[in-house]
Amino acid sequence: MNGCRDIIVVGAGQAGFQAAASLREAGFDGLLTIVGDEPVAPYQRPPLSKAYLAGKATAGTLALRPASFYADHRITLRLGERAALIDRPIQQLELKSGERLGYDHLILATGARNRSLPVPGADLAGVLQLRTLADAEDVQRYLAGVESVVVVGAGFIGLEFASVAAARGIAVTVVEFADRVMSRAVSRPTSAFFRDAHEAAGIRFAFGVGVGRITGADGHVTAVETTDGRAFAADLVLVGIGVVPNVELAAEAGLTVADGILVDQALLTSDPSISAIGDCATFPNSFAGNAPTRIESVQNAVDQARCVAARLAGRAAFYAALPWFWSDQGGWKLQIAGLANPHDLTVTRGDPAQGAFSIFCYRHDRLVGVESVNRPADHMIARRLIAERLPLVPDQAADLALDLRALIRTAAAA
Ligand code: FAD
Ligand code: NDP
Repeated sequence: MNGCRDIIVVGAGQAGFQAAASLREAGFDGLLTIVGDEPVAPYQRPPLSKAYLAGKATAGTLALRPASFYADHRITLRLGERAALIDRPIQQLELKSGERLGYDHLILATGARNRSLPVPGADLAGVLQLRTLADAEDVQRYLAGVESVVVVGAGFIGLEFASVAAARGIAVTVVEFADRVMSRAVSRPTSAFFRDAHEAAGIRFAFGVGVGRITGADGHVTAVETTDGRAFAADLVLVGIGVVPNVELAAEAGLTVADGILVDQALLTSDPSISAIGDCATFPNSFAGNAPTRIESVQNAVDQARCVAARLAGRAAFYAALPWFWSDQGGWKLQIAGLANPHDLTVTRGDPAQGAFSIFCYRHDRLVGVESVNRPADHMIARRLIAERLPLVPDQAADLALDLRALIRTAAAA
């Protein structure tokens, strides 16, 4: 196995867990350690803003594997421990406690942390964010006695949280810099659909504004003042304004870092003994013309972990998986295949008024992304169309009478 006897993974999140699990699946027989600074074994983050807050999942059901999995697979979990320094010349990782662990290969899966809101009042009690299980427990606790919330940021976290809060009868206002929801991730038609759907559920939006300050009484938040001078009452403020990749450990070790830890197509950093995967890694993305890209998603974390494990198992592997995403908001299941932005043409398949449609996004006549709402079959087909670069002209995409599955079979056979 490439001469590796001792592999350490830093970060016990989705990517770190998957790297360790896939290494064992691939037959890696050496020492395998995951160092994670959260006090709990690897768990799923997606339900935190969905089923967990809606009361349909508990902390216990979020674990990616039961404790016995790690013992059975001889994976040492060092939880509640922070990796503080990489001593590259002698291939050692130093923990915050000062303890040193030697490695043949190091996998950095340090993820990302939430961006903080730099305004007066952001430190008041009741101003919360959502990344970890501990954050979600806090939010859940606060939500119990709340009448009105302000959500800052109309991205995935903001909208998923807003729809859960609105369903609990709480008055919700969402404040967003951009002029539409999920502007980083989806096309204008999909944004418009979700804005309408959320407004119909009683959620109010303030677009094109930021937060000026947060005011409070007795140390607890009471209102949010926007940069255009309006004030919105709030017993709870949920800040969901994006993330910052955790690159400091890599940067201090002299690895090349840009927006994330820079890796090549094999997901190797500028040090051949160190890989980086998941939210923290910036890689050449074949679906973005090989431009350096950092993707924040479960698909990316899992597939990059598998790719690194395959390489360490001796199978040369370049990362080329198609990006895909999902989000559950109210009764709407949004699934995205590919990287739709930027695009110059959108085509609608199905009927947004019926609540089930897909938006096919084209760039220079090429299909680059498909956003499906409550049309899971379209999503699965779109993944193949984009990944295999199969031809589909806009008229075909819009034609509901055309069987896309049959078209794929024909195109793949040609
Ligand atoms: P992380 O999950 O962030 O894990 C990194 C871990 O490393 C963390 O535990 C961190 O504390 C730890 N760490 C960092 N530095 C150190 C250090 N020096 N020493 C030790 N440990 C360290 N994606 C989707 O595709 N679909 C969804 O529906 C979806 N929903 C989401 C909902 C929420 C509320 C959140 C927060 C995210 C959601 N995501 C979703 C995004 C997805 O969860 C992330 O993209 C994914 O978890 C990234 O995995 P990762 O392992 O790269 O990073
Ligand atoms: P996003 O980047 O998706 O969205 C953040 C939004 O907040 C953007 O629209 C941004 O606008 C806006 N914004 C930034 N600063 C301000 C501000 N000061 N005031 C008002 N609006 C502001 O990040 P999230 O926080 O929603 O999600 C965090 C992480 O969790 C991401 O990695 C995300 O992928 C992940 N996640 C994924 C989910 C999924 O895939 N279903 C679900 C939940 C979380 P602009 O772009 O103009 O800066």
